[in-house]
Order: sequence, then C-alpha cells, then structure tokens
Amino acid sequence: MKIGQALRWATARLAASPSPRLDAELLLARVRGCGRAGLLASLTEDLGPAEFELYREMVRRRARGEPVAYLLGNREFMSLEFELGPGVFIPRPETEVLVEESGRRLSGRPAQVAEAGTGCGAIAISLAFHYPRVMVHATDSSETALATARRNALRHGVADRVFLYRGDHLQPLMGLAGSFHAVVANPPYIPSAVIDHLPPEVRDHEPRAALDGGPDGLQAYRMLAPQAARLLASGGWMGVEVGPDQAPEVAAILREAGFGEASVVADLAGRPRAVFAAVRR
Ligand code: GLN
Repeated sequence: MKIGQALRWATARLAASPSPRLDAELLLARVRGCGRAGLLASLTEDLGPAEFELYREMVRRRARGEPVAYLLGNREFMSLEFELGPGVFIPRPETEVLVEESGRRLSGRPAQVAEAGTGCGAIAISLAFHYPRVMVHATDSSETALATARRNALRHGVADRVFLYRGDHLQPLMGLAGSFHAVVANPPYIPSAVIDHLPPEVRDHEPRAALDGGPDGLQAYRMLAPQAARLLASGGWMGVEVGPDQAPEVAAILREAGFGEASVVADLAGRPRAVFAAVRR
C-alpha cells in the first residue's frame, strides 16, 4: 500500500473525529518517524506491512476515542512540544491567548508568577521559556501531572525557574502571600451536567478534575480569586481562562474578592477567552 492510500483509508475510518485527515497524518508521521511535511512529500512511497500493522492499531485506538495527543505522547503549545499522557489534561490552542496577554503585561520585567493547576506545565513552562526573567510557582493536585510538568520543565531548560507544588488551587503557595506579580490559571470551568455531553475523546479520556467546574462551572474561580488576592503584591494582577459566556460572572467573582475593573481578552475566533484584573490595593 502507498502512503497516500493509507492516509485515505485512515481518514475514512476516522470520520467521527473532528479532524480526520490531520489525525491520520499525525499518526502515520509517527509510524514513519518523520514530520507531517516529510510524510506529504512521500505520498507515492510504499508503506511496509509492519508499518501498516502499527498504523492500523493506532488508527483503531483513535477511532475508539483515544486522543491523538495521548497516542503520540505529546502536544504542541506556544511552539513548544509538551510530553503528556493519560491522566494529564491536553493543552488547547485557545489557551495561548492567556500566555500571550500575560507575557505582554509582564513586559520583560523580572516577575514572580503563580499558577494553579498546571497539568503538563504548558502555561508555566511556556511563560518561563518565552519570558526569561519570569519565575513561575505552579501547583497541581495530581502527582502524574506534576511528574509530567517536571520532565517538560527539564526538557525546555526552565527547571531552575519553574517550581512545582502538590496541592489544590493555590493552597501550597499561601505561605508566600504578598510576593507575586501575577496569578494565572486555566481552571476547570465546564458545568458538571455538561460533562456527559462533551465529545467522548474528552469525556472518557481526560481527567475530570481538569474539566469539571461544579454545578455552574464557576466553583474553581470562587476558590482561586480570594487566594490570588492574598498572594499578590500591590499592583499585581490575575489572568484566567474562561468558558463561553462566563466572562461577566468571572469578572464579578474577581470584583468581590478585591480586584478592580476586569478586561476581557478574545481568542483568535473572537470569543471572550480570558479575564484579567488587578488587585485593588
Ligand atoms: N477548553 C476545555 C474544553 O473545552 C476545557 C478547559 C477547562 O475546563 N479549563 O475541553
């Protein structure tokens, strides 16, 4: 079988995926040990029988809902490759606006940043990598996530500026109250009742603790906002990702916890995606 044929076969088998052709290409590139560009330059080459067997198994698992990121063991975020696997939330491209806006606000100055719920470390590590004067203190309640984040910090050369703590929300950092310039988070914000209606690749494979925001989706913000207000130094700010339509409610939660006027940042599709506010002190 030719590479091109194999891709067409897999794309048809993956019709239930939101991105059948892309998935087919990423998985076959892995089997061939090349990049997507290399794969597309070799469409008329033969795929060996052993390679096809391997590919067929990966496509079968993908067709049954396993996320591509778990099958490959990595996902790109902010132009960096992050190792991850089952039990660890897969970073989404939408979250890059949170990192970019945070970096813009830090504007090259030395800064101490706190992050709640770092997962594979995508936000903390990309901030430290792209903004070399930033130090990030990041928490997660999952040992699997922290071990993954540790490996990613080492891999990207920022382990001396990314500190990892095990615990819920910002609790492990409360001993450092008053010493942060910024607090960032992409907390779980999906209302519990909506979880069952998520695509199976999310619902059945990603950690629920990273998705489930309680009855109205806002529970994590209610926990984080007062903790963040205590962690921040005077003039410090908090930036959080929000779900669709949550920006006004999250702005109100921040106001109640002692933050000033919120500004809302949209993602590339124009949807409100992150809320930023400075602590009033
Ligand atoms: N954006 C994620 C999703 O829709 C949810 C992330 C989160 O709850 N923080 O799968």
